[in-house]
Amino acid sequence: MPIAPPSLRPPLPDTPSDDRPETPAQRLSWVVRMHYRMRTAAFGMLFLAVCLHARVETVRADVWLFLGLLLIVYPHLQFRRAQRSSTPLDTEMHNLSADSLLLGMSAAALGFPLWITFSSLLGTLSNNTANKGWPGVAETLLAFSTGALLGGAIWGFRLVPGNDLPTTLLCIVCLTAYLVAMGHIAFTRIQRLRDTREALQQRERDLMAANAALQRNLREIDALQEQLREQAIRDPLTGLYNRRYLDATLERELARARRDGQPLALILMDLDHFKRVNDTYGHQAGDEVLQQLARLLNEMARAGDVASRHGGEEFLLLMPTMSLATARERAETLRRAFGALEIPFGSLKLRATLSIGIAASPDHGSTAEDLFRHADRALYQAKHEGRNRVAS
Ligand code: GH3
Ligand code: MG
Ligand code: MG
Repeated sequence: MPIAPPSLRPPLPDTPSDDRPETPAQRLSWVVRMHYRMRTAAFGMLFLAVCLHARVETVRADVWLFLGLLLIVYPHLQFRRAQRSSTPLDTEMHNLSADSLLLGMSAAALGFPLWITFSSLLGTLSNNTANKGWPGVAETLLAFSTGALLGGAIWGFRLVPGNDLPTTLLCIVCLTAYLVAMGHIAFTRIQRLRDTREALQQRERDLMAANAALQRNLREIDALQEQLREQAIRDPLTGLYNRRYLDATLERELARARRDGQPLALILMDLDHFKRVNDTYGHQAGDEVLQQLARLLNEMARAGDVASRHGGEEFLLLMPTMSLATARERAETLRRAFGALEIPFGSLKLRATLSIGIAASPDHGSTAEDLFRHADRALYQAKHEGRNRVAS
């Protein structure tokens, strides 16, 4: 009986497939990697906008140095920092706050040109909000303002909001590209989460099906084991207990009888001239006679009695707590009932008789051996005296 294995599926997205320790790259959240790419691109574009702006507005050398470090080098340093951190995601959240602060400083250093300042603020604001929710908004505004004040303190407070058209256009294009990229990332992430959830649900359904199949198989195994146990103690033709079972039960019942001071009777029976039945009507007719006798024995047996087929056409009825006198009466009733039985076989009605030998405890001994020996002798006597009779 095959036991259905749980279906093998590929691991879910973003879940480690085995127990191997994660590499640093695997440990790094996708958020950190995505921010690195986005920050490098966005800061690079901002640097281009600053270059365009510098055509119409003079930028001091120390401001150039600051902007160069911030917009070109800083994204890589922040990524390294997150990579080396034991909690990369937490470090990356701090990086986002640092972005706001440093962009505020750069806006102040340039004298707050409108589109460059707006693009910087909106970029860092949307990123912080996407990662931290409403607190991200407050945090960004605070960090950006602090940065602006710090920048003003370092490079002096100036307000030169004008941009020329190329700078404005570049800022609009870059900002649009940045926001579209963020929207796309959010879309693919939601899509992946949905796929993961569906895969999990499917896996749960598979597991439940495998579990149900397993339970079914276990029940079948239980039933088969029970069937095997029954087969081991039953005679297949008549369904009566077999000799092995009777022997084991007799030992138990004798011990109980001795302990309780109760009698016990054994009724051993053998079909008379059974060979003739086989020879005259065939083996199948013989089988039918054996089965009818088994049915009669089952009918006559009380609860606690054991009716068994002792082998061939010999049967044995074990009757605990039964005295010799009552056993004689029972055996006589059985003999008469069987003798009177008309066993249908095709168009025929078969008849047969029984010879019976009785042994009882304590009258004929108290061991199984004593009782079998006596019952055998009594049966032989019944046969010898002309069959179809009871002897004890
Ligand atoms: P007796 O009165 O002396 O007991 O004579 P008998 O013919 O009954 O005894 P014998 O021992 O000569 O023959 C027993 C027969 O029982 C022979 C055997 O073929 C038959 N027999 C044993 N087991 C089965 C069985 O399962 N089915 C059938 N049909 N016959 C069986
Ligand atoms: Mg016999
Ligand atoms: Mg016989």
